[in-house]
Amino acid sequence: MIVRIVIFCKYRLLFQLTCLKFFINMVILYFCIYNPLIMQEAFDIRNSKNGERDFESALRPLNFDDFDGQYKIVENLKIFVQAARMRGESLDHVLLHGPPGLGKTTLSNIISNELNVGFKVTSGPVLDKPGDLAGLLTSLDANDVLFIDEIHRLSPIVEEYLYSAMEDYRIDIMIDKGPSARSIQLELNPFTLIGATTRSGLLTAPLRARFGINCHFEYYDISVITGIIKRSAKLLNVPIDELAAREIGGRSRGTPRIANALLRRVRDFAQVKGNGVIDHSIACFALEALNIDKYGLDEIDNKILNTIIDKFRGGPVGLTTIATALGEDAGTLEEVYEPFLIKEGFMKRTPRGREVTELAYKHLGKIKLGETGTLF
Ligand code: ADP
Repeated sequence: MIVRIVIFCKYRLLFQLTCLKFFINMVILYFCIYNPLIMQEAFDIRNSKNGERDFESALRPLNFDDFDGQYKIVENLKIFVQAARMRGESLDHVLLHGPPGLGKTTLSNIISNELNVGFKVTSGPVLDKPGDLAGLLTSLDANDVLFIDEIHRLSPIVEEYLYSAMEDYRIDIMIDKGPSARSIQLELNPFTLIGATTRSGLLTAPLRARFGINCHFEYYDISVITGIIKRSAKLLNVPIDELAAREIGGRSRGTPRIANALLRRVRDFAQVKGNGVIDHSIACFALEALNIDKYGLDEIDNKILNTIIDKFRGGPVGLTTIATALGEDAGTLEEVYEPFLIKEGFMKRTPRGREVTELAYKHLGKIKLGETGTLF
């Protein structure tokens, strides 16, 4: 009898525990599905997801004439490409550097189109073994373009192999191991290497020296960005007026990728909240909803400025300290967020670290404190 009671109690307890677990799971599920606060993701206009990448490819200009801005670079490249075509030779190796989203990949694609040669794409972190590089290089036809994105992230050993490939169009590879190891030399077709990087400072001197053409990308000014937005809207079949294109352009941080991404978001608002046409009022409404302010600063930019002001009295403060305070990667901070904040005059680099400017205080409606924490 006692044994039966014990077994009964045990199963009852087990049953109650299972019910409790089920109830807790249902509560978690409810909050994940219905509570918008939990589901809400910070809107990060710089991060393109897969859909956005397809959208980007659809809008990529395919020849020099469609590529707006970076006029000096384009003018020079036109000459070099034409000269290479006239001689029937490969174009010299090209290094493109500058912040993300300014058109480095697009321009590389255009160069291969204008040269009328094949285009192969890879990226620094993907090529981790010399064998990967050898495979790619031997598959190139004469005068083809090989595009290596994030070239600063090539492993040192792959980089060494690249030197002879770039200079003499040959590559030495080791076969076998131990006493029977031998090196064989592979002849390559002449090719053009286009390297793109957001951090040219991290390139080694020998690699940098092997690029005959060196181009630095600058942020675009508002009139060029406005033109790019109008072109993209036309390709997407979305009517947009001049003022609206200018409004979106002014908040795109001088970056075509951001301009196109904003256009896509504003188009959604125009479809749902308006009549499908992007006019000035719907553009302002959408940009407000997306938390993009009139300077194009988004939540993360404002967070960086607020952190320097609130936690470090406006600086100077080291980059890694800011990154730790924000829970961000120092490299991302330096190459993605900081250049625009510096360019627009919200922040400056000093020998003692980063410092915000008067403009940042004004923009955030904050008052500058003196050394002792008192007001000026
Ligand atoms: P990066 O390689 O520098 O990160 P991308 O070449 O991928 O930048 O360009 C991002 C997007 O911006 C592309 O979809 C492209 O359509 C657009 N874009 C960049 N530069 C221009 C330009 N000068 N004119 C028109 N569109 C541009």
